[in-house]
Formats: sequence, structure tokens, C-alpha cells
Amino acid sequence: MQLVMRAIIESQYPVSRADVATATGLARATVSSLVDSLVSANLLMELPPVTTGSAGRPAIPLQLAPRSIVGIGLEINPDFLGYAVIDLSGDVIDEGIERGSFINSDPVATMRQAGVLIRDVIAELQDQAIRVAGLRLAMPGLVNSKTGFLEVAPNLGWKHVDVAELLGITDVPVLAENEAKLAAFAELKESGRKDFLWASPEVGIGGAIVSDGRVYSGQNGWNSEIGHIVVDPSGPPCSCGARGCLEQYAGRVAITKAAGLPEGTSLVDLIEVLKAGDPVALAAMDAAGRAFGAALADWVNLMGIFTLVIGGPCRDLLGWGVDAMRTSVHERVLAAPFTDITIVKSVTEENSAMKGAALAVLDEVLAQPAAWI
Ligand SMILES: [Zn+2]
Repeated sequence: MQLVMRAIIESQYPVSRADVATATGLARATVSSLVDSLVSANLLMELPPVTTGSAGRPAIPLQLAPRSIVGIGLEINPDFLGYAVIDLSGDVIDEGIERGSFINSDPVATMRQAGVLIRDVIAELQDQAIRVAGLRLAMPGLVNSKTGFLEVAPNLGWKHVDVAELLGITDVPVLAENEAKLAAFAELKESGRKDFLWASPEVGIGGAIVSDGRVYSGQNGWNSEIGHIVVDPSGPPCSCGARGCLEQYAGRVAITKAAGLPEGTSLVDLIEVLKAGDPVALAAMDAAGRAFGAALADWVNLMGIFTLVIGGPCRDLLGWGVDAMRTSVHERVLAAPFTDITIVKSVTEENSAMKGAALAVLDEVLAQPAAWI
């Protein structure tokens, strides 16, 4: 059944039962019976028959069924909480954002607010007879990838929190994961790139390693904390308790401060100041780019992955920092003379973590379709 689903997912266009038999090497009758089960369970849908021109019955193209099973992604970050609902066909069928300041927020109150929001979303889906496969929480911190327990989220000011439990949703499976890894998963699905290092600068700077088409989780998901790579051991104190971490140079709050702008300046306003050519802001971006490049160079030297994808809302700042970043990377990566090092903006847009979270839920459905029949 997995083979059949994979053949349908991997095809660029809707395929027929005969196409699936050819692609998988399975007998036509076997494919037909598996497809029939998947159609009756509403995982697949049949499109109107297409006459091929040759003799025989017209082919019935198959595709993943829309609005039958969905995954929900929920993201909590310093500036907003938001959700995305994605169906098997890949359509975002619902999404929403509640803006607020969640820096040093109370985890119980914040998760309760998120729980209220999500309960309404689930009720609405259930009214439409849409099945919810699960909910994935995208959290900006160290999350145990096996248990979903949040150890620390420095920019929320949270420590040792069972976020899934606090959400209070009991009728669908809930698991938390690191937000940058989920954003990188969305990028992997959308861009088709199979090997890249992901960095998403915001107040903090998330990271993920994508190698051979998989997001690397290490022993328990605690890795790729690029925001806490040391740029200067005697630098300013960081939210993590150490000094001189990258996010103190290239995080949004740090850039705003270095640009001489008031605390709380929005990203849009920062970009306006840069567009106007303000020399202090431009110098701040140059310094941020150099620091970012130095940290990325360490990462490239360690991993041997030469594509760097910058995502998240602050990727729009890349236009002002990328030259300094590139110079810094090239100065420090040992292999630089022998290979191209690519630094690009993500193809996914902002809020990709919540979408990646929903896609991660669906990925599990597609890996085990029999569980949904
Ligand atoms: Zn730090």
C-alpha cells in the first residue's frame, strides 16, 4: 500500500492504476485492489476518465484526496501564535495568526490561549467530516524529538514544559518539535532540494541540517542551534546564559539595536530604514552578515554541505547582509576554493514552521496509509 501511495505522490501528474503497476512492478490486480481500498477510505480520489487513444478502457487518473484527512501545524513564537491546516493534496485549507508578545510569557496561559484557538479549528473540521490525523507543535527551542518535551525556549523564557499536555487537546495526537526543523521540512518538500543547511533568523536564529532528503535529528533532536554558535566569547550576554552567541549579532533584536532604532521596531520598519540608505542601519547589517557568515562557515566546515538556505521572515534582510556573509563564509571554509557555496533565500515564505508541522503529520499518514483504512 505504501508503494502504491509513493508512486502516486512521486508522479508529477495524476497516474492511472496501470501506471502505478508499471512504476511499482506490482501485478495490475493487486494495484487495483489496493487502490480501491484507498479510494473507499477517501485517501485517494478518482478523476474523470481520460481516453488514451489506444484500444481498451479509458484510464482513470488518481490523486491524493482533498479535504479528507488533514494535519494541523501550530507554531508558538515570540511574536505570534498561528496554525495551518493542510490536507493530503497539499492544500492549506485553513490558517490563522494571533499576534502578541510571547517573550517571557506564561506557558500555561499561552498554551491555554492556543488550545482555545485549536479547539475551534478542530470542531470546524469535524463538522465537515474531515479527519484530523494529528497536531504538531512548532516550538522555538530544544524539544526532545522522541517525547515532544520542551526543555528550554530561551526567547519565550520557558523551561521544562510539557507543551503538548498544556495545550489540552486530547482527541487528536499532539507532538512538539523544534520549529526550525519543521520549517526546513517544509522547504525540503517545497523546493525539492535534498541537501542544505537551514537557518531562520528572527529574534533567535533557528537551524536544521537536511541531508539526503531527511531532516537530521541526531540522538534526540537537540542540534543545529546555530543562534548559539559563539562569535565572540567575551561578547554580550545571550538569552541562553552564555556570551557572544550569533543571535546577539544577527538576531532581529540585536540588529535593531545596532541600527540605532527603538526596541520593538518592526521588521517592516527596519527594512524601510535600510531602503532609505541609513548608514548606521547598513553598517549594522554588514556586521550581522559578517557574524552570520563566520558561524555558517563553522557549520559548513563541520558538515560538508555547501548550500545554505536562509528562511523565515528575516530572509528579506538578506539583500543587505549577503555580501558580507558570503565574504565571511568564503574566507573561512576550507573547501571554498574547490566547490561552489550557495547562499539562497528559502522558497517557502514566512510561517513555514507551522506548515512544515502540518506536513510532518501528513508524512506519517502517507508512510502508513493502512492505518487510515
Ligand atoms: Zn546563546
